[in-house]
Amino acid sequence: MKPFALVCSAFLAVLAGFQTASADEITDVRFGEHSDYTRIVIETAAPVEFQAFTLSEPAARLVIAFDEARWGVRSLPSAAGRGVGAVGQFQFDERASASRLVFSLNAPSTVRQTLSLDPNGGGYRTVVDIAPTSEATFQRTSGFPAPTRTLTDLLMDEVGVTYVPPSCEVVRVVIDPGHGGRDPGAVARFGGGHEKDVNLSAGLILRDLLNATGRYEVIMTRDRDVFVELNDRVRIARQADADLFISLHADSAGDNRSPAGATIYSMNPRAVSRARQNAIRQGDWVDPSRPQEVSQILVDMQIANKEGESERFADTLRTEIGRSAPLWRDRPMRANFAVLTDAATPAVLFEMGFLTNRTDARRLNSQREQRRLMQAALAAIESHFARCGGGEPRERYVASASAANTSSSR
Ligand SMILES: [Zn+2]
Repeated sequence: MKPFALVCSAFLAVLAGFQTASADEITDVRFGEHSDYTRIVIETAAPVEFQAFTLSEPAARLVIAFDEARWGVRSLPSAAGRGVGAVGQFQFDERASASRLVFSLNAPSTVRQTLSLDPNGGGYRTVVDIAPTSEATFQRTSGFPAPTRTLTDLLMDEVGVTYVPPSCEVVRVVIDPGHGGRDPGAVARFGGGHEKDVNLSAGLILRDLLNATGRYEVIMTRDRDVFVELNDRVRIARQADADLFISLHADSAGDNRSPAGATIYSMNPRAVSRARQNAIRQGDWVDPSRPQEVSQILVDMQIANKEGESERFADTLRTEIGRSAPLWRDRPMRANFAVLTDAATPAVLFEMGFLTNRTDARRLNSQREQRRLMQAALAAIESHFARCGGGEPRERYVASASAANTSSSR
């Protein structure tokens, strides 16, 4: 584990609505020689984020890299100086990707601890203690550190959000046969059924295929010829705490008979903002006991997770469908469909083909072809959830302080 330290004050400031500090001036560099370690203290006008690590190539060095810093030590106008103990020369390097202080080392050393201390008469203090170590340990522990934690990680720490990794419980899949009842969808052509009938027939086949594996809990938004509001379809997914939502449709190109083949959609940026607004407005994600920013961050993280998972599933489904049926669009497609806008449930809308195309219509009205198509959908679902032995439910984010509330209200 490479030593590193981060000061999160910038993020706290953002959360509190303050301006973040601008470039931070280094006002002093000083050293303390102790019997078993050497202390380096860097003073800055404002809190800074930094990482401290050693490098062995081409020469033994200690690097303290700052997110943002500029040199302002009046007694050292050349931005260089001399240390004590294990520390030889040092130099401030502003041209590196992150401005940094580089110290030459006289002996194999390791970073023992790093501290960020508030002012005590002077500036904010960045403290790095280095201790002697063996050449072997020095070689092993030296090197550029792994990438720092992501902004999401930091925010999760700052606002007290807990990431709940996927567990291998039963995967819940919502199948949404589009239209129904008084809404026929694309109307029947070429002697086949209306879109609502094709969607329902395919949906029931997929339900049976999933049930036969014993690895899924299937929830249907409708299992007969009834009208279901779009909002209710989304609500069913949310109440089920579902891991995947598949809306089944058949396309229409009006009088144009040439478009043919399947298309798979996930949410576009407008659908994302709609999902965000709905989540906040409906209050599912709003816990009055925590700041509103926390609820918003929680929603944003969950939606980002949903977006990624939706796109991952859409790609898998497109690949599987492409093996057994023509594709109208063999690339990621995104749209602002209402049924895709639950904030948490990964969701795709699957246009299985065009009822306005003669070949597609024949295919979509054939039970055998429907079954072939749904077997491809099953293969995609199996592949999507494969990492957890047939089940990998959606990742979840919950607020640490009220984890029980949050998960149960979903
Ligand atoms: Zn439709």
